[in-house]
Amino acid sequence: MSKADYYEVLGVAREASDQELKSAYRKQALKYHPDRNPGDHTAEEKFKEASEAYQVLSDPEKRAAYDRYGHAAVGGGGTGGFAGGPFAGGVDLGDIFGDLFGEMFNMGGGSPRGSRQQRGDDLRFDLTIDFEDAIFGTETEVKLRRLEPCATCKGKGSASGRGPSMCTQCQGRGQVRYQQGFFSVARTCGACGGTGSVIGDPCTTCRGETRTASELKLHVKVPPGVEEGTRIRYAGEGDAGRAGGPRGDLYVVLSIRPHDFFERHAYDLYCVVPISFPQATLGDEFEIPGIDGPVNLKIPEGTQSGREIRIRGRGVPHLNDKGHGDMIVKVIVQIPRKLSRAQRELVSKLAETMNVENKPASPSLLEKMKDLFS
Ligand SMILES: [Zn+2]
Ligand SMILES: [Zn+2]
Repeated sequence: MSKADYYEVLGVAREASDQELKSAYRKQALKYHPDRNPGDHTAEEKFKEASEAYQVLSDPEKRAAYDRYGHAAVGGGGTGGFAGGPFAGGVDLGDIFGDLFGEMFNMGGGSPRGSRQQRGDDLRFDLTIDFEDAIFGTETEVKLRRLEPCATCKGKGSASGRGPSMCTQCQGRGQVRYQQGFFSVARTCGACGGTGSVIGDPCTTCRGETRTASELKLHVKVPPGVEEGTRIRYAGEGDAGRAGGPRGDLYVVLSIRPHDFFERHAYDLYCVVPISFPQATLGDEFEIPGIDGPVNLKIPEGTQSGREIRIRGRGVPHLNDKGHGDMIVKVIVQIPRKLSRAQRELVSKLAETMNVENKPASPSLLEKMKDLFS
C-alpha cells in the first residue's frame, strides 16, 4: 500500500510556511488525539500519520529530501525495497539515506536534477449552498486567491528577462557532496534548492518566485442533485505552475445548509406532518408543500401515528439521469392537550362505544401490543 502524501495528510500546500505546517498539524493532532477518540482505530492511525508528516516536514533538511524523493528519502517506509538491500544490517542510515538513494539515481552522469518548472498546487474552495440549490442546481460566483504568473517578469523570475543561470555552488547538479564516515554523501544544494539553477537578478515583484498571489472571481456551476461533500473539479484552475509549469486544479467542495422542513437521504426527501385524531381515523386529503411545489397528501382511513407515506417521484432529481427520488411523509397523530367541555363529552361517548364494541371480544393486552409491532 502506498503511503499518503505528507502535505495531503496535513492538508497544506507544498509551499506551506513553517507556521502553516505547525497550525495544520495542531489542528489534526487535536482532532485525532487518542485521548479524544478512545478506541477509534482510524483516528489513531490518522494521528500517527499526521505526527509522522509533521516530524518530517518541520525539519528543513528532511523536508527538502522528501520534496525531491518522496517517502523513501525520509525512511518512512513505503518502498520497502531496501530492507534486504545492501544497506541492511543494523546500520542506522538516518537522514543520509535519502541522499544515498538520490545518488543511486544520479549515477552515470548526474543529469537528472530538479527542474525549476513545477506544477501549480491544487486548490480547494469550500462552498456552502442552500438545500434547494443542491437539488435543482445553481450558479454562483466565488472569490478566491490563487497564484498567477508574475505580470512584471512574465513568469520568468528575472528582472532582465534573461531567466535562470547555472548555480555556481553545485555547478548545476542540484547537489553538493561531502564525506560522512564511510560514505560520500550528496545533499540537496541549499543555494538553488536542488534545481541546479539560480536567478541572478530576481524580479522585484515576485523576488524570482515567478508567481504572485491575486484574487479572482470564478463562475461556479453547481449541477442539480449534488450531495453534501460533492467535489466539483475545475481542471487547470488551480495555482499557476512555477516558472511556466502547468496549473494545478481547483476543487469546489460543497456543503449544504439544512432545510426547515425536509431532510434528505440520497435521493429521497423525508418530512414529518402532524395530523389530528379525526384525520387519522376517518382519512383525509390535503396539500402540503413539496420541494418543487404543492403535493397532494392522502391519509387513508385508520392511519396509525408514525406511518410513512411515500409519494413517488417528488424527491431529488438524479444527478446523471432523468429519474427522481421519492418524498416520504411521516404522519404523527397529535393528541389534543386541551379539550372543551363539549369535545370532552364527545370523546367520552366515543370511548363508551369503543368499550362496548371491543371489550368482550378484545384480545388480551399483550395481543394488542403484538399487533402494534406487526
Ligand atoms: Zn516577477
Ligand atoms: Zn545549486
